[in-house]
Amino acid sequence: MSEQLDETLHFGKNWQQQLAEAFTTINDLCHYLHLSPDDLPVSKAAADDFPLRVPLSFAACMEKGNPYDPLLQQVLPVKAELFAYPGFNRDPVGDLPAATRTGVIHKYHGRVLFINTGSCAINCRYCFRRNFPYYDLQLSKQKEHAAIQYIQEDTGISEVILSGGDPLLLGDTRFAKLIRQLGSIKHLKRIRLHSRLPIVLPARITDELINTLVQSSKQIIFVVHCNHANEINTRVIAACKQLKNNGIALFNQSVLLKGVNDNVAALCELSEQLFTHGVIPYYLHILDKATGTGHFEVPEAEALVLIKHVQARLPGYLVPKLVKEKAGAMSKQYIL
Ligand SMILES: *Cc1c(COP(=O)(O)O)cnc(C)c1O
Ligand code: SF4
Repeated sequence: MSEQLDETLHFGKNWQQQLAEAFTTINDLCHYLHLSPDDLPVSKAAADDFPLRVPLSFAACMEKGNPYDPLLQQVLPVKAELFAYPGFNRDPVGDLPAATRTGVIHKYHGRVLFINTGSCAINCRYCFRRNFPYYDLQLSKQKEHAAIQYIQEDTGISEVILSGGDPLLLGDTRFAKLIRQLGSIKHLKRIRLHSRLPIVLPARITDELINTLVQSSKQIIFVVHCNHANEINTRVIAACKQLKNNGIALFNQSVLLKGVNDNVAALCELSEQLFTHGVIPYYLHILDKATGTGHFEVPEAEALVLIKHVQARLPGYLVPKLVKEKAGAMSKQYIL
């Protein structure tokens, strides 16, 4: 079977079908990339703990035959995830108790995170949510009601951040209803989406979704999540363009990851590519110290040196803010 033909067929399908056809095993992904699992430090135990999940659109951006591909590093379950690194634990940000109770996390002034779903289209190995009991985070109708009521009752909230998991895994109808409900809350000024789907499953940016966003009475802000310039393919570019052309403010957040984007050239190229396609670099996050992610850590001192080099090369608007999360703090902690 020709791979070319296969992919053409796949990308002609809707986003739900593309999601259903995502890679879920180490063997299938390796086979597609012309790699042998025997030559890689893969771990079935790591995959049992946090499953492999990679849409073809993302895998198609990987270099065939390259075991060090920066996109592959982000999704391949490896033995290093099982090592215990000092200082890494299951809930480094301290979000868990808050999130499981009401579906909202209200830590920062004027903004709440609204946890819509615990799942994602892609499973990023470095994710701090990898240890969360996804089942508890699933948004029941009851919890959704409680979350909306919470936002309604606190007039100090001006911005709702739809997060997850990935909020765009909700279907168009359910998502539109949610946007309408939030739209009717007078004191809200903005609705922000934190989603990796325009990057990993760009087919999710449907006309219906765009209509929902455009018709909202609130300002819409879209923060995508892209870590490496190679993630930006023609489908991603089209999705970003569609959002941008409809007046939606587009930003990007990345995580600084060892072996993925921990060099000046990669960070500069990422910022350049994003901006070329209408996306403004917003945050570069220091890794949250979650169990299973220690091998991705870039020490803070090294991160500071890197971002200063980026700053020396690029205009200010292309330099993301280097930030870290601190449990109990009133905002992200700016490092530069
Ligand atoms: C990151 C984060 C936000 C958003 O912070 P901004 O600085 O406004 O981007 C809001 N709430 C929580 C709990 C967060 O972790
Ligand atoms: S898309 Fe975001 S929330 Fe989902 S696994 Fe990746 S880093 Fe985690």
